[in-house]
Amino acid sequence: MIRETAGGGRRGALALPHRTVQTPVFMPVGTAGSVKAVPQDVLEALGAEIILGNTYHLYLRPGHEAIARMGGLHRFISWQRAMLTDSGGFQVFSLAKLRKVTDDGVEFRSHLDGSKHFFSPEHSMDVQIALGADIAMAFDECTEYPADRQRAEESLRLTMAWAERSLAHHKANRQKTPWFDEKTGKRQNLFGIVQGGMYADLRKQCAERLVEMDFDGYAIGGLSVGEPRELTLEMIEQVLPMLPKDKPRYVMGVGYPEEIEQYARLGVDMMDCVLPTRAARHALLFTSEGRVNIKNKQYAEDQNPPDPNCQCPVCRRYTRAYLRHLVQAGEPLAATLNSIHNLAYYLGIMQRVRAEMATANASL
Ligand SMILES: [Zn+2]
Repeated sequence: MIRETAGGGRRGALALPHRTVQTPVFMPVGTAGSVKAVPQDVLEALGAEIILGNTYHLYLRPGHEAIARMGGLHRFISWQRAMLTDSGGFQVFSLAKLRKVTDDGVEFRSHLDGSKHFFSPEHSMDVQIALGADIAMAFDECTEYPADRQRAEESLRLTMAWAERSLAHHKANRQKTPWFDEKTGKRQNLFGIVQGGMYADLRKQCAERLVEMDFDGYAIGGLSVGEPRELTLEMIEQVLPMLPKDKPRYVMGVGYPEEIEQYARLGVDMMDCVLPTRAARHALLFTSEGRVNIKNKQYAEDQNPPDPNCQCPVCRRYTRAYLRHLVQAGEPLAATLNSIHNLAYYLGIMQRVRAEMATANASL
């Protein structure tokens, strides 16, 4: 169910097999079956309703077949709320070595041990079905930035052909997810990914074709790959009206706090980003008073909470001086506490935006 506000923002609820997720939503990234440094019970307490898993990482280690034998990713990591897995495509292109791309798929070497692997749309679906997230993503090729038109067109051709193969293979095999239930009709969802580089007409061509194919939801991929922010925003603004109003819209891999708020108000329903946890491990806190580099000497004896306007468990209990000390001393707790605050801050932004949208709807 989705209600649109006057500004184009959408307040909705996404009924997934493991959880009805309130949207717009921010999804913490749990790369290798773990949102780095943050235990699952803390994620629950912070109000995270859906987290990501990375197909590429989980396929390499511990392996999708091992996870399937243990009942799927939800059971393996003990997370009973919703999950989404990416297609593996983005990591193959950004992390793996010696890639060889053909119409069939991508041959690559693992960044862990150099072993040789092959990902096709069909294989990506098999891996994601075995992992058994609530939402799987079509296998795509993420166009790098900058890319000339010819390169973007070629990449788009592959992405569209792979989307079709992903959809067909997923439809034929999705009953193999570890928790598939024929009686209740609970099944894994599959989203298509709009690519096309920074060319609005290519994005349009891709969006139209994907909508014809009829996916459960649509993502805008290939953003936040080094392009200027104005261009990211322009692409999102151009693509959103091309997507069906009654299906979820997901922008992958964004962004800074002010960006996720802006995109949510434009009508984006789902976003994910490693930024809150990655920045936290580098001692960077996002706060209501701006960015705080907690390593700085000025915080050495600062008795204030990390963010005076934050009600998260870290801000209620600890001082800036203590967080700085943990970073200086190389204590692992630094990563945990900084990540908890940053995630609380990101999730809090979405809670506030949702509340404001609900009020806007009520007053219509
Ligand atoms: Zn906090």
